[in-house]
Amino acid sequence: MAYIEIDSSNYFHNLNQIAKKTGSVDKIFAVLKDNAYGHGLLEIASLAKKFGIKRVVVKNLKEALAIENMFEEILILSEIPKKEIPKNISVTINDINDLKILSPKTNIHLKIDTGMHRNGIEAKYLKKALSLIKEKRLNLLAVMTHFRSADELSSELFWQKKVWDEIKTQAKNFCKSLHLQTPLFHSNNSAALFRLKTFDEDFARCGIATYGYLEMDSIFGNFNLKPVLKLWANKISSRDLKKGERVGYGGVFEAKEDMKISTYDIGYGDGFFRSDGKKELKTADGKKILGRISMDNFVCEGDEEKVLLIDNAKQTAKVFNTISYEITTKLSPFIKRIVI
Ligand SMILES: *Cc1c(COP(=O)(O)O)cnc(C)c1O
Repeated sequence: MAYIEIDSSNYFHNLNQIAKKTGSVDKIFAVLKDNAYGHGLLEIASLAKKFGIKRVVVKNLKEALAIENMFEEILILSEIPKKEIPKNISVTINDINDLKILSPKTNIHLKIDTGMHRNGIEAKYLKKALSLIKEKRLNLLAVMTHFRSADELSSELFWQKKVWDEIKTQAKNFCKSLHLQTPLFHSNNSAALFRLKTFDEDFARCGIATYGYLEMDSIFGNFNLKPVLKLWANKISSRDLKKGERVGYGGVFEAKEDMKISTYDIGYGDGFFRSDGKKELKTADGKKILGRISMDNFVCEGDEEKVLLIDNAKQTAKVFNTISYEITTKLSPFIKRIVI
């Protein structure tokens, strides 16, 4: 059976690199959304806890409840729960109307749209939102934002950060005048944390860097991060291919000479990318993948018992013209995860 290997020492190494940037483990919100970017929610949550992480971010209530008792705080990014939630679960406010439906005392993080225009309350409604929070007796823990271009080679991050700094000042003043407790603040994702020279906020929300990647131009530096995930596939069958014989759907690959080939138990149904067989593709351990990738199988040269399909998602991403996030996040939750 194919399996995903999770390297705990690499995960701890990455968290250490991040803690050096934030100045403290307690300032890290480890992002575990989407099955921990495909690495396995329970496996990564256990490692995060072992490392001393106290706060994590997930996508929805289902993910939060799966790790309910493991952390001091679990922040839900993309769902407003319709029922009572445990005290250690908090909710991101993405729209001002969210404030009208949550029950009193719910812990919230108020997200402000400072230019990404994806989620969060428009800056002009900041005071209105804070008044509603007071009126509805919600428990405001933090005010947050998200940068749209932290990993882009441009000055956009600095423009957006300026807008954000102004929001922070306003939020502090409005809270004071409304007799609300001063909230905590957080904005940085992995790219912003590693790119900016200084860090002076209460938390950073780090996902991709914890898993060993940054999708940033090398001009920003060589970051000392190590990939956490490896994807291994096991052999299903082997055969001898004669010169001129063809492999797989459409017979796209044709043997130029007699060769030994084997079929392995990963395909696009497992969340690996489909290839049409036209582009040269290799496994991470250097074996040529032959022909199209099918739903549950791919074929490559040789007859090893197992082959390493991914050991660096950023490299795999380059081949498929995407980013490391997509390569790991797509991996099926049904593949077994083994922590070493
Ligand atoms: C996914 C996400 C993050 C983490 O981003 P990385 O680039 O993986 O560090 C942080 N904040 C929000 C709001 C997110 O959606």
